[in-house]
Amino acid sequence: MRAANPPIELSKGQLKVTGSGLFLDAHRRAACVFVSHAHGDHIARHDRTIATPATVALMRHRLGERVRGEALPAAYRQPFGLSDLTLELFPAGHVLGSAQLRVTRRGVSLGYSGDLCLEPTLTAEPAEVMGCDVLVLESTFGLPRYVFPPKAEVLLRIRRFVDDALSAGVTPVLLGYSLGKAQEILKYLGEAGYPCRAHPMVQAVNRVYGAQGVELPNVRLLGPDGAAPGEVVVAPPHLSRSAAILRIRRRRTAMLTGWAVDGRRGFRSADAAFPLSDHADFPALLRYARDTGAGRVFTVHGYARELAAALRREGLRAEPLEEREQLELL
Ligand SMILES: [Zn+2]
Repeated sequence: MRAANPPIELSKGQLKVTGSGLFLDAHRRAACVFVSHAHGDHIARHDRTIATPATVALMRHRLGERVRGEALPAAYRQPFGLSDLTLELFPAGHVLGSAQLRVTRRGVSLGYSGDLCLEPTLTAEPAEVMGCDVLVLESTFGLPRYVFPPKAEVLLRIRRFVDDALSAGVTPVLLGYSLGKAQEILKYLGEAGYPCRAHPMVQAVNRVYGAQGVELPNVRLLGPDGAAPGEVVVAPPHLSRSAAILRIRRRRTAMLTGWAVDGRRGFRSADAAFPLSDHADFPALLRYARDTGAGRVFTVHGYARELAAALRREGLRAEPLEEREQLELL
């Protein structure tokens, strides 16, 4: 493949498969878009959306039934044609329905990781390594200092925090993003027998998970009556000071986020922070890039420059994907 003709480009800030009408996770309306998962920074109302059935359901929930355009639900590992491209989706392990995409054209395959998590998951389909010639890799935690402890250990630490709060007669309030993180901790604690209360915003997403076959036992809605002694509350971080939470007079809060490896900076209002992440950490990103067998890697989002430099030190041909690269072609 010629260096000047990468099969992926940034077109006015949007990822696009070069020489095709296919955009990847476009955040502005576009004609034909692969949506890797339903987090807010990856979705918009498009004319044509290609995504897994779970992502389509979560998008409908998030964008409302007013979702215009056509949804093309695609199952994992079922290749299908789109003009001269062959598309195939693989689980990404990030949130329910999250997918990586492999686009093959004239014998060259382009892999797009989307947001990726390689650790075992309780509520999402486990990630697979997607072999490809050219890889577009997310770089959210693309700095060497982002090394997460094993997930089982993080979950145990959260459980200890919950136990300590409950035995002190205080309500533990766990703060995690309403799509993905919240369901993961509810599944873990609910199955361990802890009665849980989900903030209405979380419970609404729980219902979509339930309809997709992911049961969350021991979880009830956090209503106006608040939480009873012995119950655990799960809420989105941005609502930690909302009336529903402030009504719980005796509470102890914990943030659940990969950024907790940076210490408490940024979430000092919480009593604790645990590095429960739904992204791959730095060593996992390096390992993944190697395992795909890709001869060329483009990094996107987050620490793209730094991750590309680290991949080059590992002997891979890697660079951040930047708009100016397209300008150089003109
Ligand atoms: Zn995401």
